[in-house]
Amino acid sequence: MYTISDISEIVVPKRSIIVYHKSIIQNLIYDTRKIVNAETGLFFALINRRDGHEFIMDAYSKGIRNFVLQNDFQQELILPDANVLWVADTFLALQAVAETQRMKFKSPVLGITGSNGKTIVKEWLFQLLSPEYKIYRSPKSYNSQLGVALSLWELNEQYNFAIIEAGISEVGEMEKLQKMIKPTHGVLTNIGVAHKEGFQSKEEKIAQKLKLFTDAEVLVYPKKYLEQIYMPSQIYKFAWGEDESCQLEVYSLKKEGDQATLVSLCFSRQFFTVKIPFVDQASIENAISCIAVMITFGYDFKTIADRIATLQPMEMRLELKKGKHNTSIIDDSYSNDLVALQIALDFLKQQKQNSRKVLILSDIPGVQLHDEKSISKLKRLVAASGLTDLIFIGPILSQLEAQFSLPTASYSDTKSFIDGFKHIDYSNSTILIKGARDYHFEQISKRLVAKSHDTILEINLNALEHNLNIYRGLLPVGVKLMAMVKAFSYGSGSFEIANLLQFNHVDYLTVAFADEGVDLRNGGITLPIVVMSPDENAFDAIVHHKLEPEIYSFRVLNSFLRYLLQQGLKDFPVHIKVDTGMHRLGFMPEEVDELLAILKNQDAMKVQSVFSHLASAGNAVDNAFTENQIHLLDVFTTKLKQELGYSFIRHIAATSGIDLWPSAYFDMVRLGIGLYGIDMDRDDLPVREVSVLKTNVTQIKELTANETVGYNRAGMLQRASRTATIKIGYADGYDRRFGNGVGKMSINGQLVSTIGNICMDMCMLDVTDIDVNEEDEVIVYPDIKEAALAIGTIPYELLVNISQRVKRVYFYE
Ligand SMILES: *Cc1c(COP(=O)(O)O)cnc(C)c1O
Repeated sequence: MYTISDISEIVVPKRSIIVYHKSIIQNLIYDTRKIVNAETGLFFALINRRDGHEFIMDAYSKGIRNFVLQNDFQQELILPDANVLWVADTFLALQAVAETQRMKFKSPVLGITGSNGKTIVKEWLFQLLSPEYKIYRSPKSYNSQLGVALSLWELNEQYNFAIIEAGISEVGEMEKLQKMIKPTHGVLTNIGVAHKEGFQSKEEKIAQKLKLFTDAEVLVYPKKYLEQIYMPSQIYKFAWGEDESCQLEVYSLKKEGDQATLVSLCFSRQFFTVKIPFVDQASIENAISCIAVMITFGYDFKTIADRIATLQPMEMRLELKKGKHNTSIIDDSYSNDLVALQIALDFLKQQKQNSRKVLILSDIPGVQLHDEKSISKLKRLVAASGLTDLIFIGPILSQLEAQFSLPTASYSDTKSFIDGFKHIDYSNSTILIKGARDYHFEQISKRLVAKSHDTILEINLNALEHNLNIYRGLLPVGVKLMAMVKAFSYGSGSFEIANLLQFNHVDYLTVAFADEGVDLRNGGITLPIVVMSPDENAFDAIVHHKLEPEIYSFRVLNSFLRYLLQQGLKDFPVHIKVDTGMHRLGFMPEEVDELLAILKNQDAMKVQSVFSHLASAGNAVDNAFTENQIHLLDVFTTKLKQELGYSFIRHIAATSGIDLWPSAYFDMVRLGIGLYGIDMDRDDLPVREVSVLKTNVTQIKELTANETVGYNRAGMLQRASRTATIKIGYADGYDRRFGNGVGKMSINGQLVSTIGNICMDMCMLDVTDIDVNEEDEVIVYPDIKEAALAIGTIPYELLVNISQRVKRVYFYE
C-alpha cells in the first residue's frame, strides 16, 4: 500500500503541497471519464493528444484529491484540501510508480514481445501454467508505454508469476518498457514483414525489440527470424526451429485431418510428439513458443503434450453486436479478471442507446469469498458503471448478492441460468457478458445475439479512434472537428460509431437526412447534429430532436423561417452553405446581400456556421481553383460577420482538405472518409483499416477443363479447376462488375479471383492454386482502393453499398 508521501519519494517532485501525508493511493487515474474510486485515486495530468491539465477541475469535482502535475503548467490552481506534486514529466512519474511496484515483486516475470502473436501466447501460457502458478497477466493488449505501466501497478503478492506483453512502434521505446518490466524470462514471438512499423529496417526492428530482454536470464525465440542474435552472454538463449543447432528442434510437422497438426520435436537428444489442435501456421508457431517456454520451466514432455492438446482458439476482443428484442450485446467472454472487467465496463458506459444496462458476470478465477480487497473493488466498479441490473453466475458471486444494492439475480452455474432464460425480459437493454472461460458464456451470447448470415462487416473501433487522433494531430489547437456520419457512417453503423465519437469529444456530427439524426438522438447521442438535406416535411423532427439544418437556398431559408415563426422559436441554430465552385448546393457568393437582408431582419434563427465544400482539393492541377474557393468563403464570411454583428464557425475542408490544405482549416474541418481508414491523398499517414467485409467458403468443387461456372456459362474453365462458392452477391453490395476475374479476394492470405458472373446472393472463386478448406474465411476486399479502381469507382461507393442485411460486428481491443 502506498501513501502520497511514498509516491512523493518515488516521483521526486520539484514542488509539492501535501495536506494529508497519510492519503492512501490505490488507483492510478489518467482519464477522468474512467474514475472509479476517487478517494484513493491519484490523477496524473498526462500530455498526449489532449493536455491532462485541462481536466484537473473535472477530476477535482469527481472527488480526486491527489494530483501529479507537470511543473511548466502556469495556471494558478485552487484545489483546497488536495495533495499536489509537480514533476518535470508526468508520464515518467507514472512509469516510475509502476517500476517501483514491479520491483517489489520477487517472482518470475515473463516478458513477451514480437510483431504478432503476443496476446495469444500470453493467454495460452496463462492456461498452460495455471495449474502450478498463480499468474498475473497484463490485460487485453495493454502493451504500450501507458498500458504496461497500468498493468504493472496491479501486480501484487497474491501472485507468484507474471506475464507482461510489450509492444513498440518506434526506436527508443523498448528501453523504457524494459526499465519498467525487467523481465526475468523472455519470449520473442515472431517478426513480421507485412506491416511497416516505425523502423528503418528489419534488423533495426529486431534489435529494438530484443532490448526488452537485456537483463533476462532466459530468452525463448524462433531461430528463423534471428539467424544471428547479439545478446548479452549471460542470457540462456533457447532457440526453436528446423535447424539442428536449435535447443528445441522441430523435426517434422504433419497435418492430422483438418483440425490438428502433429509436431515431432527434439530436445536434449530426446524425441517427443505433440498434437497441436490447429492447422494454421500462426497458431502452430505460437504453440511451439509455448512448448519452448514450458521446457525452460522444467515441464516434462507428457504434461506438455497433454496440455497443448487442450489449447483453444481465442476470441480476444470485446465485440458489440445487435441482439434480439432490440438489445445491444457486448460479448467479452474470453477472460474474467477485475482489470478486464473494468475495461469492459468503461466500454459499456460509452453506450447510450439503452438506459437499461445489464451485467452478466461469472465468478472471477482467484477471487474467493473472504478476499475482501477484490470484492470491495468489484463493488466499486459496479457502483461506478451506471448498471441497472446484475446477474451473477457461480457459487462465489451468488453468495454475495445481498452486498450489492442493484437488482441482482444469481445462478449457481451457466446451465441453470440458461434453463430459466425464457422467463426473463431483457428487451431494450445493453447487456455485457463477462465470463471466465470455464463458464462457457458463449452459450449465453449465442442465445442473445440475433441470428446471422455468414457474411459480416467487422468494424474495428480502436482503428476508428486511432484515425480520429491522426487527423486531430494535424490540426492546430482550436480548430474544431466535425465527423461525417452520413449514409450510416459510410456504411459502418449508426449509434455504435456516434457513441465512440461522442466519447472522444468531436465537436459536431453530420448526417444527410433528418431521420438519420433522429436515430442518433434515439441512440442517446447528445452532440450537435447537422442535417445536410432538411426537407420541409422533416422540420418537425428537426426542431423536436434539436437537429441543426443546413440552409442552402432562399427556398429552404424562407420555408424554415416561416416554420420557426409559426412555432414561435428564437435563435434556432442553422448552418449556411455557400457555393464557391462545387456547384451542388449553396448560396452563390453574389447573393450575400440578399441573404443578409433576410437574416438581419429576423431573430428566429441564428447562424451557427457558414461553410462551403472543396470540389477538387486532391488534384494538384486544380490548385488555383481550390485557392479561389477558399478565398471566396473568406470574403463571404467576412462580410456576413461584419453585418450580422456576431461570430460563427467557418469551414470548408473535408478529408482531402485536411490532408493538403492547412489554409482551408478556418475554424473547423469536416472529417469523412479518413475517419474510416481510407486516405486517397497521402500515404504517409498511418491510418488503419476500420471495416473488413468477410464471408466463408460454403462449398468447394473439383471441375474438369471445358466445364463452365455460373449463369450464362460465363465462367469457361481453361484447365481442371477447383472452385469455391461463397455467400456474397450483388444483393449484399458486391457489384456485378466484379464478375469474371475482375474481383480479387483473399483466403488464408492468398489472392484469388472471381470466376463467372456474380449471382444475387453468391459468387464463385477460382481456388485451383491455393490451399483452402470449406468454411475458411474469405476477405472480400483485401485492398479496397484497388477493388474500386478495378470497376471504375471510388472506395466510398463500395463502402456505402454494403447492404444492411450484412451484419455489422463491432470490436474493441
Ligand atoms: C461527405 C462530405 C464531407 C466529407 O468528405 P470526405 O471526403 O469523406 O472527408 C464533407 N463535407 C460535405 C459537405 C460532405 O458532403
